[in-house]
Amino acid sequence: MTIALSIEHLNKVYANGLAALKDVNFSVKQGDFFALLGPNGAGKSTLIGILCSLVRKTSGTVKIFDDDIDLNFSKVKQQMGVVPQEINLNHFETAFNILVAQAGYYGMPRRLAKQRAEYYLKKLDLWDKRDTISRRLSGGMRRRLMVARALMHQPKLLILDEPTAGVDIEMRRSLWALLREINAQGTTIILTTHYLEEAESLCRHIAIINHGKVVEHTSMRQLLGQSNREVVILDMVDPLSKVPDLQGCTGTLVDPYTLEVVVEQDAGISALFTQLNTAQITVKSMRNKASRLEELFVDLTKHQKSG
Ligand code: ADP
Ligand code: MG
Repeated sequence: MTIALSIEHLNKVYANGLAALKDVNFSVKQGDFFALLGPNGAGKSTLIGILCSLVRKTSGTVKIFDDDIDLNFSKVKQQMGVVPQEINLNHFETAFNILVAQAGYYGMPRRLAKQRAEYYLKKLDLWDKRDTISRRLSGGMRRRLMVARALMHQPKLLILDEPTAGVDIEMRRSLWALLREINAQGTTIILTTHYLEEAESLCRHIAIINHGKVVEHTSMRQLLGQSNREVVILDMVDPLSKVPDLQGCTGTLVDPYTLEVVVEQDAGISALFTQLNTAQITVKSMRNKASRLEELFVDLTKHQKSG
């Protein structure tokens, strides 16, 4: 199994003494869709900055497809495409020219560069903006242009730092679809996000980082399996006067039409519905109070002290 990214004992102390990364260790397999999840200030961008040599690490080893970034950066650069968190497009250059110029940095022939620029501008719904200078694009368009730019040399590893921040819901969905497609074609993807549902929907493996430390590194399925309770909200067809007797669950009446139920995983949702059926209680709709991942995330990050 090829490892796309391996990080060992990575530390970063900024000049002002702030330890942004503390002995970070994890790896990402080729072909994976990996989330680096953490609250603001956790150290995600610092880590991405180190990968693309914008930030100098204090100590530790980083390898991309077995090449040490300190020893073989030119090769590493060919393998990797990065979409940084901060918009860093040339303000006065057109979308099309930004992509063609990027291809130039990678030594791509001009004809191929133009073909790919067209392909990715179309892919990212920017074709009609090809002659617009980046300064005149909306925030979401700039973000998509940065994604297109990172794809121009068709990297084996694509790294995105909060790619959907400031992108509207529709665009977020279409960006998700594009990332899934790229991943299905074999590109390893690592993204940072603080949107839990983004990680849950896209990613197979996950590292949660908090105050510069990795507090969890596992598969999404395992992480979600760890949660042994789920809170659901049921909307009733007929009003309830009291909380029904439910085995394996704890109910709370929010109002006569709304029942909040904590379901232990052993009991399960279907057992809840069987009991409600027996009691002749009809449910109009059901929703999850919070995503399971959200509860776990709060659990994993709330007890950590900074420093
Ligand atoms: P995230 O991307 O997870 O929000 P960052 O990596 O941007 O987190 O920041 C991690 C920590 O490092 C924060 O406390 C941030 O204030 C600090 N930090 C980031 N850049 C610098 C810098 N250039 N100098 C000093 N501290 C910094
Ligand atoms: Mg960041």
